[in-house]
Amino acid sequence: MILKGFEDLKRFLEKPKNIVIVGHRNPDGDAMGSSMALKYYLDKKGHQATVIVPNEYPEFLHWLPGADKVYRFDKQNSQSLRLLNASDIVFLLDFNALHRVGFDMQARLEKYKNDFVMIDHHQQPDTVKYMYSDVTICSTSQMVYQFIEMNSDLDLIDTDIASCLYTGIMTDTGSFRFRSTTSFTHRIIADLIDKGAENHKIHSNVYDANSYNRLLLLGQALSNLQILPHYKTAFITLSTLEKKQFDFKKGDTEGIVNYALSLKGIIFAAILIEDSEQKIVKMSFRSKGAFSVNQFSRNHFSGGGHDNAAGGKSDLSLTETVTKFTSLLSEYEEELKESYEN
Ligand code: 5GP
Ligand code: MN
Repeated sequence: MILKGFEDLKRFLEKPKNIVIVGHRNPDGDAMGSSMALKYYLDKKGHQATVIVPNEYPEFLHWLPGADKVYRFDKQNSQSLRLLNASDIVFLLDFNALHRVGFDMQARLEKYKNDFVMIDHHQQPDTVKYMYSDVTICSTSQMVYQFIEMNSDLDLIDTDIASCLYTGIMTDTGSFRFRSTTSFTHRIIADLIDKGAENHKIHSNVYDANSYNRLLLLGQALSNLQILPHYKTAFITLSTLEKKQFDFKKGDTEGIVNYALSLKGIIFAAILIEDSEQKIVKMSFRSKGAFSVNQFSRNHFSGGGHDNAAGGKSDLSLTETVTKFTSLLSEYEEELKESYEN
C-alpha cells in the first residue's frame, strides 16, 4: 500500500477548489462509480468537482445518478479542456498510468500544470504527488469509501454516493465473488445498503439490461470458444464482422471472458476482440490461482492490470493474434500446470 501526501492534500482541500476527476478509457463500473461518488463527496465538502472520462461508457451504466453530468473528452472536447485549464487539481481514478486515458487525453494531462492525486488499485503505478495505491483492494470504489473514512466523513455518504460506490464494488468483484472480496468489503457493502443503495435494483440495472442483440453476440462468442486442455486455457474471438452482425455497442462484450473461465479445469481465459476503428485486437485476460495475467499481458501484449484480471492489445490481425497467443502458451506450460487450484 502506498499513501503519499494525504495530510498535505487534506490541508490543500481545506479551501474550496475547482477539481477535475478523470477515469480511464472505456470506463467500467468501477471507474464510473468511484469517480462519480468522489465528485458528489467533494461537492458536499464545498468544492466544484467535475468528472471527465476519455470516451463512451456502457449503456448499462447510464442509469447511475448524475451520469448525464459526466463530460466526455472525445465528444465535449472544448468544455473538457476548459474545465482542465480552470482546475486546481486533478484526481486520477481507477488507473495507474497516464497512457490508460488514451492518446489525446494523455497528451493534455502530460502538460497539466498543477498536481495529480491518484486513487487506484492496479499494479505498478506511476508516481504522482498525492497517491493512494493499494493492489490488494478489490476496487477503486472501495478505496474512495476508505478515503472518505480517512477524512472522518462517512456520515456524508448519501443515497447517490452509496449507489455509485456499490456499483463500482459490485462490478469489479464479479458480484462479490473474486478473491479480492473480503469481509471488510462486505461490511462496507452493508453500510452502503444502510445508507440507501438499493442492492436488488442496482444488480438488475446492471445485469438485466441486455438487448436481444447482446445475447446473440454472446451466443456467437460462445460458439467461437476454443479450449486448449493441455494448457488449462480457453479463449474466445470476436471479429469486426461478427460485432457488426449483432449491432455491437460499447460494453456488449464485457464479462464474456468469464464464460471461458467458468469451464471446469480452465485456469486461464482470454477474449480477443477485433477493433477496426483503433486497428488493434483488444484482449482481456482472466486467471484463477497463481498464474499472473498482469505479467503475461505486460510481457506480450503491451498491457497490464491485476494478477487475475488484465487487458492488453495487439497490432497484428485477429488470426495472427490468435497464433501469437496460442504459441506463447508452451512457455508457460509449467506455470499453468502448477497454479491449478481446486
Ligand atoms: P478488462 O479486461 O475488463 O478490460 O480489464 C481488466 C483489468 O485490466 C482492468 O483492471 C483494466 O483496468 C486493466 N486493463 C485492461 N486493459 C488494459 C491495458 O491495455 N493496459 C493496462 N495496463 N491495463 C489494462
Ligand atoms: Mn477497478
